[in-house]
Amino acid sequence: MRIVLVGPPGAGKGTQAALLAERLGIPHISTGNLFRDNISQGTELGLAVKQILDEGGLVPDEVTIAMAADRLAQPDAGDGFLLDGFPRNIAQAQALDELLGKDGHKLTAVLDLEVPEDEVVKRIAGRRMCRKNSQHVFHMEYAPPAVPGVCDECGGELYQRSDDQEDTVRHRLELYHQETEPIIGYYREQGLVVTIQALGPVPEITQRALSALP
Ligand code: ADP
Ligand code: ADP
Repeated sequence: MRIVLVGPPGAGKGTQAALLAERLGIPHISTGNLFRDNISQGTELGLAVKQILDEGGLVPDEVTIAMAADRLAQPDAGDGFLLDGFPRNIAQAQALDELLGKDGHKLTAVLDLEVPEDEVVKRIAGRRMCRKNSQHVFHMEYAPPAVPGVCDECGGELYQRSDDQEDTVRHRLELYHQETEPIIGYYREQGLVVTIQALGPVPEITQRALSALP
């Protein structure tokens, strides 16, 4: 299965992608996590994009598409993947279609997570991420770790993302509506969109997604 996850920041894409990837036996590819890994490792790419992420802007398409193409070319993504955070605008969606088309592939579905904006804001405000593994995501209220500040899964330190501050979040939500939402229409024309309500307990949403996917 070749799946794209869409939804506003804080919708639960990373949380669901990690669970779905395990269930479906395909890799979870998050461009946000790839950028953050580069930043924490101090790579050239990381240095180039750090300020953009801190300010909640979008990394230029050229850079993002090249990074996503590299990741998709790795052997584990050959038979399928769950993309989280990419594409984020029409140009990236077209580039992905082109990239897959070269190998005679196409997307299986686009899973659209619907969450009211006030809930998204609460989810982002309480989000804590693991420094050791960015797939380990917690929430101060909704998914608290057993020991405060410590990742249940690997013992890593939990931290609040610098772009999860209120002002930056507002900017990211605006960008979502302006730049990213239009890709839902683009994919709807291709008959690929599956929308699910993403409010409620995490395992229930995973089940809804599994039942809705083709
Ligand atoms: P995204 O990748 O879409 O930005 P995340 O998966 O990081 O979203 O989730 C944002 C925050 O909301 C995290 O703190 C996560 O623990 C929490 N969260 C995810 N799904 C749910 C849910 N169904 N109910 C409550 N909180 C959730
Ligand atoms: P969230 O799910 O909370 O919106 P992500 O982890 O997907 O956050 O992305 C974090 C940041 O990484 C974005 O605000 C943006 O700066 C950058 N980023 C991630 N994916 C893309 C993309 N496809 N195009 C441009 N910038 C991106």
